[in-house]
Amino acid sequence: MPRYDFRCRECTETFEVNRPMSESGDPASCPAGHADTVKLLTTVSVGGRSGAQRVPAPAGGGGGCCGGGCCG
Ligand SMILES: [Zn+2]
Repeated sequence: MPRYDFRCRECTETFEVNRPMSESGDPASCPAGHADTVKLLTTVSVGGRSGAQRVPAPAGGGGGCCGGGCCG
């Protein structure tokens, strides 16, 4: 059963709720009984890792303005 993190906006308490995914959007009251809670985004680890691909730097270089004598 997935676990959802909630945070109470009245007492700033963070708590966890285990509930089926079909009820993930339902409101949850904090352990102190407050109903003003917000659901936090939980970090879910998804299979497969994609490394950042290095973008090759543009070849060449040089050719600046001062190289052509236009600055002089
Ligand atoms: Zn509370």
